Amino acid sequence: MASDDVREIKSRLDIVEVISEYVQLKKKGQTYWGCCPFHNEKTPSFSVSPERQTFHCFGCGKGGDVFSFVMEKEHLEFREALERLAEKAGVTLSSRPGSGAPRGNSDANKAALEFFMESMKAPEGEAARKYLERRSITQADAACFEIGWAPTSWDSLTRYLRRRGISEEQAVEGGLALPGRNGGCYDRFRGRVMFPIYNMTGRIVGFGGRILDGDGAKYLNSPESRVFNKRHNLYLLNKAKAEIASKGCAILVEGYMDAIRAHLCGYANTVASLGTALTSVQASLIKRMTGLCYVCYDSDSAGEEAALRAMYILQAEGVTAKRVVWRGGKDPDELLLLPDGRELFEKAIESALPLPLYHVRLRGEALKDPLRAPAARRDLFEGLASLSVFDVAPYADEISEKLGLFPHELKALIDAQRKAESRPERRVEAAQPDAAAQPEIPEDAEVYGDDLEYMVCSLLWSDEEMRSSCPLGNIALYMSDESVRAIIYALMSGDEPEALERRWQQMNDEKGMRIIARGNGLLAREGITPETAGKLIEELRKNFIRKHVQPILMKIKNGSITDAEDEEYKKYLQYTKLLKGGNIKA
Ligand SMILES: [Zn+2]
Repeated sequence: MASDDVREIKSRLDIVEVISEYVQLKKKGQTYWGCCPFHNEKTPSFSVSPERQTFHCFGCGKGGDVFSFVMEKEHLEFREALERLAEKAGVTLSSRPGSGAPRGNSDANKAALEFFMESMKAPEGEAARKYLERRSITQADAACFEIGWAPTSWDSLTRYLRRRGISEEQAVEGGLALPGRNGGCYDRFRGRVMFPIYNMTGRIVGFGGRILDGDGAKYLNSPESRVFNKRHNLYLLNKAKAEIASKGCAILVEGYMDAIRAHLCGYANTVASLGTALTSVQASLIKRMTGLCYVCYDSDSAGEEAALRAMYILQAEGVTAKRVVWRGGKDPDELLLLPDGRELFEKAIESALPLPLYHVRLRGEALKDPLRAPAARRDLFEGLASLSVFDVAPYADEISEKLGLFPHELKALIDAQRKAESRPERRVEAAQPDAAAQPEIPEDAEVYGDDLEYMVCSLLWSDEEMRSSCPLGNIALYMSDESVRAIIYALMSGDEPEALERRWQQMNDEKGMRIIARGNGLLAREGITPETAGKLIEELRKNFIRKHVQPILMKIKNGSITDAEDEEYKKYLQYTKLLKGGNIKA
């Protein structure tokens, strides 16, 4: 059963340890605090409770347990998070994946990879082998990077997969085949050199195919699916991740060939952005392993602009981005193939430009042209204002000089830009909601209801003694939030918190865990323990009286009370007396 696996994994993993891989946590009292990985902030409002094994962010409201954290952070489905954490905890899952689809895809992709690699070696792969030879990739290199060949025929892969027991439906679902007009299906990739794309956990999630000749897009990727999203993956990341962590920096290139060449030349910390503009998800993958990234996009003007955008996205994710600039060779592949290529590349890396200087340099020409200068200046200041003061300060003198300003003028201009963006529109496309919001509890009553109710709910959730000594029914009546009330009723009916949690997981219901996590966060912040919980219950009681009892009292005074209301009143008086003074252990 998956639920037993969940329990086993939770008992072996510490949420603080898991989250520490992503966030720097500091212990204060019983709680750990750090800057939230889900929204942009400078002062920590993200709390992790080791005691209760939950996290909660006071800035953006995200919260939950170790599973919700990994799902959210790694963009995984529950099942994938389960597999990931099982591996980490050393737990062998007792159940095979229920939904089948991702596993099926993975089997189909694995079989397809074997087919493509065999085809590369077979007679029909001659054109591909010649192409690789022209690109100075040996057959041994090709095998090492699992470069394959998709033959030009319409159905050679589909037929191969069928022999391997993979149905046409699975092939279509896995993005390897397309349904034909007259039934049946045909291969998606034909006449292409194939590059497998692995996800972070080492599963093949798709392919990129480069056409050799004929019509069609130069590059074709597997279609987007639940398993494959090219905006969430980086080419060769799986091979590069250990090296990135140990070298303390990553190299980001644009193309498959650039990445392979860099690896072959000893830069095994290189990844490629799969032919899309870098996304914040991709940047966050890099951030998990390092805080420094060298951007080696092409040296043409499209590459220069793409590099600039990528660098701002990296910086927004907390990765210091440096632009590698070189002469000779339009991309890293060409450069590294030059006789003194490696030396040139090494020098280019050593003298890489930090983002502020690169941006100034890139706009240098435009800034001198009276027609283009206003737009260039605006673009530059918008960029600089989006960076932290610490990222700009070291280069302030140099930038001022280049712009013909005094350093204090530069600072004033950047400050003015920051102020002008009262609701700063970040340069990143996938900007976090209100990134500049200070970590205050949001006034989001719709979602968060009453904090008091959450705190009481979390206390009851985690403290068995309190649960058994408290008149839960009355407390439930005090609650105005229906979800909170439902949780308390469930606890009242004898459900163990663990059992409830499992039920939520099975139903993909995140709300309950979020309520508990938020309550835990609030309790930690307010320093409330079961021993001092009385004052919360008393508050609840007072609220209840204000809302329900006082209006009836008014009616009694006016003599306009109905019999039904009188009954209500007597009932209310009973509950409110019972918990008077917050005496929950009465
Ligand atoms: Zn947050």
